[in-house]
Amino acid sequence: VLSIRGLRKSFGAVEVLRGIDLDVAPGELVFVIGPSGSGKSTLLRCCNRLEVPSDGSIHFDGTDILAPGTDINGVRRRIGMVFQNFNLYPHMTAAGNVTLALRQVLKKDRREADAMAAAALARVGLAEKRDAYPNELSGGQQQRVAIARALALEPKAVLFDEPTSALDPELVGSVLAVMRDLREAGMTMVVVSHEMGFARAAADRVVVMDQGVIVEQGPPAAVFGAPQHARTRAFVEQLV
Ligand code: ATP
Ligand code: MG
Repeated sequence: VLSIRGLRKSFGAVEVLRGIDLDVAPGELVFVIGPSGSGKSTLLRCCNRLEVPSDGSIHFDGTDILAPGTDINGVRRRIGMVFQNFNLYPHMTAAGNVTLALRQVLKKDRREADAMAAAALARVGLAEKRDAYPNELSGGQQQRVAIARALALEPKAVLFDEPTSALDPELVGSVLAVMRDLREAGMTMVVVSHEMGFARAAADRVVVMDQGVIVEQGPPAAVFGAPQHARTRAFVEQLV
């Protein structure tokens, strides 16, 4: 679904991504770890052109997303993004946040958008919270609304950038449970996270980044149990 080749990104004189090659197959869950500043967020942001790469290519679902003529809004509709800080509109209800995306992005009429929003909220276990405002929801519930908003657009893949990092520990599980359901439903996912338990249980592949390159990748048991690269060993030890 996603194919990244020779991806480079510089901010001024600093090269943050230094030649990333990564393929993600349909239905695969790729888990990305690496030290702070290694380029994980930049990699995700390049995938829907929130950052413009300096070099390399990214193909998504048959589309060359860096080509000048590409309809980037069409690409963004098909690649969902979930961020650490939810990015919900505080003055809109849970249903309102989801409905807005459907009306603006998919141009749905009110009735259809309402029905789709209700279905998306039910999918993340929040059917009864549709009329709640973000400040009336826990962090975990807010993040699930953000996931519902992404899912409502019926994306082909969802990219998660530290979706549980802003949450109190007791709220993390509800978000991971939703992500696990999504994986079981066959969604293609790239997840940047420190939740190693989730990676062991749900990831098909773990990718380790360091200083803008992929230093190691493989099944979770291999990467966590017998890391090949010194940087991975140091990083994994510090997490457990
Ligand atoms: P973290 O685990 O802390 O989230 P990360 O792996 O996601 O880190 P990135 O956010 O991708 O790392 O940042 C990689 C490097 O790029 C950092 O050194 C950061 O300071 C730099 N960087 C990111 N965005 C910008 C920007 N818009 N302008 C300048 N430098 C940037
Ligand atoms: Mg980051």
